[in-house]
This record gives sequence, C-alpha cells and structure tokens, in this order.
Amino acid sequence: VRLTGGDRNTPVPARFEVVPQIDTPALVVDLDQLQRNIDSMADATRAAGIALRPHAKTHKSSDIARLQLAAGAVGLTVATLGEAEIFAKAGFDDLFVAYPVWPSRSAVARLHALSERVRIRVGVDSDAGLSKLADVGVAVLIELDCGQHRSGIPPHDVVRLGRACERAGLEVSGVFTHAGHSYAGPEAVARAARDEVEAVAAAVCALERAGLEVTVASAGSTPTALLSATGPVNESRPGTYVFNDRQQLALGVCELDRVAAYVAATVVSNNVDGRFVIDAGSKALAGDHPPLLEGFGSLPGWDDAVVTALSEHHGTVREPASGGPRVGDTVAVVPNHICTVVNLFDRFVVVGGGELAGTWPVTARGR
Ligand code: PLP
Repeated sequence: VRLTGGDRNTPVPARFEVVPQIDTPALVVDLDQLQRNIDSMADATRAAGIALRPHAKTHKSSDIARLQLAAGAVGLTVATLGEAEIFAKAGFDDLFVAYPVWPSRSAVARLHALSERVRIRVGVDSDAGLSKLADVGVAVLIELDCGQHRSGIPPHDVVRLGRACERAGLEVSGVFTHAGHSYAGPEAVARAARDEVEAVAAAVCALERAGLEVTVASAGSTPTALLSATGPVNESRPGTYVFNDRQQLALGVCELDRVAAYVAATVVSNNVDGRFVIDAGSKALAGDHPPLLEGFGSLPGWDDAVVTALSEHHGTVREPASGGPRVGDTVAVVPNHICTVVNLFDRFVVVGGGELAGTWPVTARGR
C-alpha cells in the first residue's frame, strides 16, 4: 500500500510511500531525511564558522533537539517560557528565548526558577520592565527589526536601549534579529538575508563604538540561514529546516526530497465531481494560509492536488484531472507551515528505512 498512490501519477520520493498501518490523521517524520536536514545545516554553519542554535518551536521535541545537539548545535532557541521549562527539564542547559518576554510576576518567578538550573537568556526590545529582568539576573539580547516590522528596534536605536539595560543592571550579551520578511516570496529571500546582516553589522558597530561589549550576534530563519551566515553574524537560529514544508518549497529553499515531515490522511469521501475529502482538517493541517500559496497543503504524487478548504475534521482536495486516490486510500499531505501543525499532534510517527520505527512525543506541545 502506498501513501500517495504515486504509481498512478508523478513519481514521488520513496518515503512518501510507506506505513499503511497507522491511524490517520498522523504526523509522520522520516528519520533518514530528518537526519540529513540536521546534518546539512550543522555542516553549513560549521563551514561558515558560526554557531547553530536551532529554533525548537518547530519540533517541540526533545528527541529531535538531542539529534541537533549531537550534530553540533550549541544550544536551543525557544519561543516561550513553557518551551524553555520543558527543554530544561529534559536536560538542555543552554536556552535562548528569542522573544520580548514581558516580566509579569509569574514570568519573573518562572525565569528565576529556570536560571537556577540552566543558562537562560531572553530577548528585549523596550525599556519597560528592564529592572524586573535585572532582578532575575538573566542576560538579554536586544532584538533588532531588520525589515519584518514585527518586534525589535531599528539598529540606530540600539545604543539607547543598551545603555538603559546597563542602568538597570542587566547584562547584554548581544543582539538578535529574524528576517521574517524573507517569507514574502522567492525574490525576497536574498534581500532579507542582506537586511539581517546589515542590521546586525550596524548594531554591533554602534554598540562597540559606545564601549558596550557584544558576544552574540544572532540572525537566521530557514530561508536566509545560509545567506546571512557572514560578517559579524556569529550565530544562526533556523527552525523549520529540520522538516521543511510547502512554504519552503514555494520559496525555492528546498525540493520535495528535503521534506522530512508530512500529515498522513485517509480519503474518506468522494461524492462531488472534481474533489475528494480526507480526514485531515484544520485540527490536523492548521489554518496557516500565506499569500504565496493556494490552499492549505499539497499531495505529492497527485499532480496538482491541493487542499482547497478545511473544516475541523474534513480537508477538501481538488482532484487531479488525471484522477485521484480512491476512498480508503492513504495519502501524504505536505502542509503549508509545519510548525503550527506539529503543535496539533501529541506524537510523531517515526519512519526509518521505509519501516515504522516507533513514536516520539511532541514534548512541548501546547507550551
Ligand atoms: N527566530 C525567530 C525570532 C523566529 O520568530 C523564528 C521563526 O518564526 C525563527 C528564528 C526560525 O525561523 P524559521 O521558522 O524560518 O526557521
């Protein structure tokens, strides 16, 4: 039994053709491809002479984080205190929360507890709350806005915030930025990578001229990671690269043979001409719908089959002109954005060498 029915349509990589015996919908990870993705990013950052601190919000998995550290990652990036707590408990002792953490009373207590067991640093992008962070004794990285215009400050403002940290008694380890605007389209990627390097270079230069020491100059998204590993950038934080997804395919960041995770689904209904229904809806595929993409996922091996609509438990798929799978067939769906999909599942179904190899918990799910 083949997941894709690839024999009836375009050829698909062998790993999409396995595991008929799993309950669907399921989040499947291909161990061999996962390891290749982990190794190639580790090799590339090592060759560029910079540290790799992968973003663990993509996989939320201590099993996968262990593989990343074994391949040479210096520590983990996380998005939330909840993720930091889970990874600290699992034994990861060098964590960076790449987020402007608001030091509420509860956050201060949690940070305090974390800082007693692991090395933990957090992002800041305003002078509000600095003294509360100083009380905890964590070091910070100042977030720079390099063009996404989400969080972060413009590089020309970095000395002002650096001095405010100094006055509050807060140790500044350096700066970080994220080129989220690289996701606008294939033509945006190289420009966004240059924006990252330029923002980091301007900030490092200004801080050093002002006599403020910079040890960490951190950049990186999956689309830009290899391009921005240069200049004063000395750390990269890609996350999605471990699995890749339909967005990375559309951006030209990878080919289908680099996709290491997908949602396995069963065709459950086929009563309307030109479409069929799978048992993966918004509670399995998530609802991310970047402007770059049509629909919510694609089915490798089934020509232009695209998930065009989602209910909670139904995914409506446009049937290829050359014919689609039959009711009862299992298909693989490459989702638009794998990070939000992972957070919908309790576990990964792990496939290795074309065989079912077991399951891994999504350790920090919901955190
Ligand atoms: N750093 C920060 C601050 C992020 O927000 C993200 C992703 O959202 C990343 C790193 C990782 O980027 P990517 O998902 O493109 O690998």
